[in-house]
Formats: sequence, structure tokens, C-alpha cells
Amino acid sequence: MNVVVFTGGVGGAKLADGLARALDADASLTIIVNTADDFELYGLHISPDLDTVMYTLAGIANPTTGWGIQGDTFQNFEMLERYGVAPWFRIGDRDMATHLLRTQMLRSGATLSQVTHTLASRLGVKPRILPMTNDRVRTVVDTDEGLYAFQEYFVKLRWQPEVRGLIYEGAEEAEPQPEALRAIETADTIIIAPSNLYLSIDPILAIPGMRDALLNASAPVIAVTPIIGGEAVKGPAAKLMRELGVESSAVAVAKHYADFLNGFVLDERDAHLEPHVAALGIGVLTTDTLMHDADSRARLACEVIGFADRLRPERLGGCRLGRPADEQAGTPRRPASLDHSPKL
Ligand code: GDP
Repeated sequence: MNVVVFTGGVGGAKLADGLARALDADASLTIIVNTADDFELYGLHISPDLDTVMYTLAGIANPTTGWGIQGDTFQNFEMLERYGVAPWFRIGDRDMATHLLRTQMLRSGATLSQVTHTLASRLGVKPRILPMTNDRVRTVVDTDEGLYAFQEYFVKLRWQPEVRGLIYEGAEEAEPQPEALRAIETADTIIIAPSNLYLSIDPILAIPGMRDALLNASAPVIAVTPIIGGEAVKGPAAKLMRELGVESSAVAVAKHYADFLNGFVLDERDAHLEPHVAALGIGVLTTDTLMHDADSRARLACEVIGFADRLRPERLGGCRLGRPADEQAGTPRRPASLDHSPKL
């Protein structure tokens, strides 16, 4: 069983962790991660989403924030303040080691995927974490106050300016991660994690070849909603949808991905929206999508794997926690054959 996940930071990292816990021991898990949030600070290359996924899978993520390292200290931060610098981006002392090593390896000529592989294996992470590209792609946020680099908008301005559009600078010239394309081609299940659609998933899809890879995939493509009851669980996803003139609802998320989607996982609090998703020609699974601990992550992961099983002609199983796929909740709205043709 080969599973591929598209993700940004915290939300998707939780589902990736659930999959790592729930999948059969012989299953392979490949996580394709947004790097358009990457930036340089004090000369260091920082990859927030790669690190969040890596720390989460290594079991060392800060459980309160979801990002950073559990129990980290901020003495470097205090020293910077003593120098009169007012850093708006806090980097923990342990976290700093990751950025130091990454920067050093990149400067010695390693690619971002080689660096990620080295760091993740040294932390004992088994699933394969792949940056979407080794090239430089940067999200620029077009707001009513002007253009902002992503981290400036997100961290410094706490995503308050009203957004008019998003630019994924460098995406068109970027080369997709070759291993990511191969993984998509040979996948049995492809999952779009509950991540911010504009800030985490769209930058990945903006890289030439990525969207086509999904459209041509033989595996079912399933998205898990990041929107519950019209609001984001955390972060600016719903606010962005409204500012971009889109209704902030799970149905709008399903529509956003509809051209390549076979299945959509709707939260049980939005069960009344099922017919609207089904009307798009997309299979629906309605369940509790909130991942508040290790068990709920693994349970949701297993349900998504079972759902995928029911969307393809042959049953593959693949989940250690799972009951046989047929016994699980949720009825696919489409027959067990795949059709990636546009649904809108
Ligand atoms: P980050 O978490 O801000 O780094 O960015 P992501 O790209 O991971 O986006 C987080 C998105 O996932 C937000 O829109 C949240 O609403 C959503 N999210 C976070 N945790 C959960 C969860 O447990 N369940 C669901 N369904 N969505 C979640």
C-alpha cells in the first residue's frame, strides 16, 4: 500500500502522524510538503512546514502550538532582545539547530530534499518527507495594505490585512520534486490533508506537473476538510476564503479541488452539506475530523484509508486499526471506478 499526502503545517502534520501510526507496517507513506512559506532570517534557511511535519512525526513537536519543539527554550531570543533587536519570529534554541544544519548543508551544495532526508532520518522518522520542489518558491500576499512576504503577513501582522490575492513567486519556473511525481504515479491512495487551501496546498499545485500528476493518478484522490461549520479549526483559511470572495464552507473547499477529487471527508458537524458535495460528483465520507490526540489522528487516518478502498475497484486494506472497509461508516456516492474528468 503506497499512500501519498499533500500538506502544509500543523493540520496536515497531524493527519500524516495518524497515517504513520495507523498504516500497516509494510505500507509506504510519502508526504509532499509546501515550501512556499520558507524564508531566510539571520542568514538561516527556515522551512516551517517541513519542520512541523518532521517534528510531529518524530514525536517532538510542541503539543500546544503544533509547531516548534516540545520543551524548547528561547534564550537566543532573549539575547537578541538584549542586543536591541526585536525579533518578530521566535525560534527556539533546539529548533535553531535544525536551521543551522539545514543552512550549512544547503550552502555545501545539498538539495532541500537531501537535507530533509538527512535531518528526518536522524530524528528517526520513517515516512518519506519530500519538499514540493528543491527550487525557490515564495508566497507573496497581496493585501489592502500592499504586498507582503508570507511570514511578514502571517506572523508579524498576524494575518490581519485584508487579502486580495496570492502570488506563488517562482512556482512557474520551479521543477516539481521528481520523487513526488513518481510517488503520485504509483500511489494507491492520495490524500489532500486538512491544510490551508491557498497558503499550503495551492502553492504545491502551482508547480508545473503537480496538478496534472493528480489528474492522471490511478489512485483515488481524497481531501479532508480544513473547514468545519464555516470556520477554520485554526489559522486564516476561512477568513481568506471570504476575502477572496468565496463562501467559507466545506463545500467550497470540495469545489476548489473538484477537478481532481474522487472523495471528500466532511466533518460530522457539517453532515447537512453531504448532498451539496455529492452533487459535485465527489464521494463523501462524513465523520469526526477533529484530531485532538494520537488516537483521533490514527482513527481519522484509518477511516480515510477505508474510504479510499471503497472508491477503487479492488480492496487493498492497509490499515492496522481498521475494520474491513465495507463495515465502516460513510457511503461513497460514486461507483468503484475512477474518473478524474472535471466535475464542474
Ligand atoms: P498551519 O496549520 O497553519 O501551519 O497550516 P495548515 O496548512 O496545516 O492549515 C491548517 C488548516 O487545517 C486550517 O485551515 C485548520 O482549520 C485545519 N485544521 C487544523 N487542525 C485540524 C483538525 O484537527 N481537523 C480538521 N478537519 N482541520 C484541521
